[in-house]
Amino acid sequence: MISFAIPEFATWEGKIFVGVLGFSWATYMWEEYLAYRQRRVYREKKEPPVELKDIMEKDSYDKARAYSIDKSNFGLISGAFDQVVGTGVMVFGGYSALWAISGKVAEWLGFPASGEIPQTVVFVGLRSLLSTLINLPWSVYFTFWVEQKHGFNKQTPGFFIKDTLKKFIVTQVISAPVVSSLVYIIKVGGDYFFIYLWGFTTAVMLFLMTIYPSCIAPLFDKYTPLPEGDLRTKIEALAKQIDFPLTKLYVVEGSKRSAHSNAYFYGFFKNKRIVLYDTLLEDYTPLNEDNSESEKEEVKEKKTGCSTEEVLAVLGHELGHWKLNHVLKGIIIFQVNLFLVFSVFGSLYKYSPLYRAFSFTQSQPAFIGLIIVMQYVFAPYNEILQFLLTMFSRHNEFQADKFARELGFSEKLKMALIKLNEDNLGFPVYDPLYSAWHHSHPPILERIRALEAKAKED
Ligand SMILES: [Zn+2]
Repeated sequence: MISFAIPEFATWEGKIFVGVLGFSWATYMWEEYLAYRQRRVYREKKEPPVELKDIMEKDSYDKARAYSIDKSNFGLISGAFDQVVGTGVMVFGGYSALWAISGKVAEWLGFPASGEIPQTVVFVGLRSLLSTLINLPWSVYFTFWVEQKHGFNKQTPGFFIKDTLKKFIVTQVISAPVVSSLVYIIKVGGDYFFIYLWGFTTAVMLFLMTIYPSCIAPLFDKYTPLPEGDLRTKIEALAKQIDFPLTKLYVVEGSKRSAHSNAYFYGFFKNKRIVLYDTLLEDYTPLNEDNSESEKEEVKEKKTGCSTEEVLAVLGHELGHWKLNHVLKGIIIFQVNLFLVFSVFGSLYKYSPLYRAFSFTQSQPAFIGLIIVMQYVFAPYNEILQFLLTMFSRHNEFQADKFARELGFSEKLKMALIKLNEDNLGFPVYDPLYSAWHHSHPPILERIRALEAKAKED
């Protein structure tokens, strides 16, 4: 039975309902407007601008343009679909219906009908199952048509299916105990439960960050220590030069997923690891070769990735993020924000019009309250925060580039940026408004200009 679940506008729940839905459509229109402006750039800039002549060949420019247009069209349609689904969830009281079904399932599994914790765990599981199923056709289309067409997809259908299943199971295994504990804390925590909630969430986050590299990431991709050789020796020397406590150095076989490339570091205190994508390395071939001879030939033909010196320059940039405490600053901002959100939740979570706006007329489940406050009440705040964080991140990227330049990597970093942009078919021309809103990393031209301007100063 499907019926509308729209509250009267005269009531508070009615006003909340209209506010939430209205804001969701307003952000949607805004995003679409920006995407439209950027699509206009793709359409009109058929020739690479003059200042790009040393950066990108016409052929790569055309490819990058075609790839961007396909991605943008995909975003246009999948975004509209998501917006319609989101609206449907509100208009038909989707959360409340799913909550009732979860109660029946929990009861069928043998839990008492009044048990909020089992019902919440089933709810979270079903919600995640539904969203995986709804997104599946889109993700299949994106991976096997869009990415495939432009030569990025390296996944086989078998790999894709296994990967999706694994992601779903791992998420459930982690979220079930966490969600149960959250509900328990809200229920028994008293007036200041939000402080315990914050403490618990922080502990879980630190725990997951600690076990992620050794227990979770290897379930999805293969990590091999970088073999002895020139690159390894030079990376170790670089780490030593700037006192980076490097303990492990891995190559991840990103090439089994896609041809996009990257490098990053992680770990706490004196226990840091660096991970390089195999696609970043020009000469890297996996140690245990299971490729057929013909595949090897194919690999040799098309040379992508960076030389040893360029990889070092990329790492110079990454280590700049560490030296300048960007990761720590990010964690602190996240924690302060989380505390703010939880304390607002602490004062709002008994306010029944919030629940009634989402068709919860009989009960006020704690976890539903958390979703409503974090996702819907905070939506305008989240948009602004996200924009500020994007600005902050762009600032950090320039700083990390500056750090690499001071290590003497200016020229090599420039080369690496150009090569990686080419390998990833990055389109180099952007509408300023689109770029200001979306780009956590400055566009390649701005980064190169900054590197060159500083190089002249030196
Ligand atoms: Zn960076």
